[in-house]
Amino acid sequence: MSSEVINPATGKKIRNYNEMSTDEALKAVDKTNEAWKRWRSTTFKERAECMHNAARILKDEKNKWAKLMTEEMGKVTKSGIAEAEKCAWVCEYYANNAEKFLEAKVVETDASKSYVSYQPIGVVLAVMPWNFPFWQVLRFAAPTLMAGNAGVLKHASNVPGCANAIEEIFRRAGFPENLFTTLLIGSDKVNDIIGHEKIRAVTLTGSTPAGKAVASRAGEMLKKTVLELGGSDPYVILKDADLEATVETCVTSRLINAGQSCIAAKRFIVVKELKAQFERMMVEQMRSKVLGDPANDMTDLGPMAREDLRDELHKQVQQSINLGAKCLLGGEVPDMQGAYYSATVLTDVRSGTPAYDEELFGPVAAIIEAQDEQDAIRIANDTSFGLGAAIFTRDKHKGEQIAAKELEAGSCFVNSFVKSDPRLPFGGIKESGYGRELGIFGIREFVNIKTVYIK
Ligand code: NAP
Repeated sequence: MSSEVINPATGKKIRNYNEMSTDEALKAVDKTNEAWKRWRSTTFKERAECMHNAARILKDEKNKWAKLMTEEMGKVTKSGIAEAEKCAWVCEYYANNAEKFLEAKVVETDASKSYVSYQPIGVVLAVMPWNFPFWQVLRFAAPTLMAGNAGVLKHASNVPGCANAIEEIFRRAGFPENLFTTLLIGSDKVNDIIGHEKIRAVTLTGSTPAGKAVASRAGEMLKKTVLELGGSDPYVILKDADLEATVETCVTSRLINAGQSCIAAKRFIVVKELKAQFERMMVEQMRSKVLGDPANDMTDLGPMAREDLRDELHKQVQQSINLGAKCLLGGEVPDMQGAYYSATVLTDVRSGTPAYDEELFGPVAAIIEAQDEQDAIRIANDTSFGLGAAIFTRDKHKGEQIAAKELEAGSCFVNSFVKSDPRLPFGGIKESGYGRELGIFGIREFVNIKTVYIK
């Protein structure tokens, strides 16, 4: 079957690509499993050599990879360059640390020798989203391949060029043929792939409904899953916050990738004393961002990835306004060709509206008033999601206590926007998923934690 890729900045077709049949995809998994049988017994040094090569290719050709991201999903090119550099970082990080992270650990027991070792498990299926089309894949692939596993990638249907490019990068880096394979298939074929006996585990980054669908199939087949799902990150602004720095951080976070980031700031919970001032500053800064061609260096805000996603966001905004939210900026589809949406600020957002209850995956800030600190924390946790959260206060000790003990999320930051870092674990709780990527925890998700006991 042939499918089209549309450039979201122009609405025009870029190319067609051929989807694989189920049979072709299942055969590709067989080949990946064959490649894994040899790869599993390679040394960390051999794996690291290939991984350093991958890092070099990502860095040396970052402009090419960024252009591909811009064409397929509208990422501002300068952000695509930064994304390719971050991918190189995660490759280097695991090339340098995998051996240490997976070193056997002796445990004293009644045995003459007993220890824990970390063994590869086989082929891992990755179902990935389009929003960071290189980063999401590399943060899975680097630890997975370094642990001695193999990977098959079902990427989002709108970024097949990125999917093929990543496979090519690993091949050119010296990884064995078929060890990392892109399956160009739609989501309707994922269940069949999960059912393949050689698929040992599944990781999905994407929306909560997709996570639930994949987890239920994997559960039926008794295969482990890691799920990195949606979020509606609360940013709590307390009375003593440094408002200028706070607003700048909030706007930066809200507009990352045209607002299409799982850990973008989505709900701004402001204590009542600061609300009017916060609104004014937020509107001013959101208005100053340049909307336009993602290939232009002056652009801050590119198009969204697809027109249907833009239309869905606009519907959520309209519904929120109809239910009582006040629109201070934007709230409209600009008169431009492509999947653009204006930077938008909503205030007086209340429970029972999409802007409060759902994930707004685009450049829309939702401001919610809190009576005081405790009320702000209550509102922050009043969500089905639990991916990231941030708190802004000049009292660092108090901020730390709230971040560490009170906010219900996988990553809680003080006076900073939430970001991923190869050295720190990343993941969510509640409907944002389970399991962790990155750091030592990420590489230990898909290994057999084996007990060895010698009498
Ligand atoms: P999506 O629609 O859930 O798609 C993600 C991937 O899942 C795509 O490859 C998609 O394939 C596939 N998929 C969708 N429904 C499926 C199903 N029922 N069975 C099997 N596979 C299915 O999400 P998206 O629109 O690409 O990405 C946006 C979402 O991802 C947001 O909710 C965002 O917060 C979340 N996200 C989370 C993280 C994190 O780390 N927690 C990071 C980035 C994004 P097709 O493209 O073929 O439909």
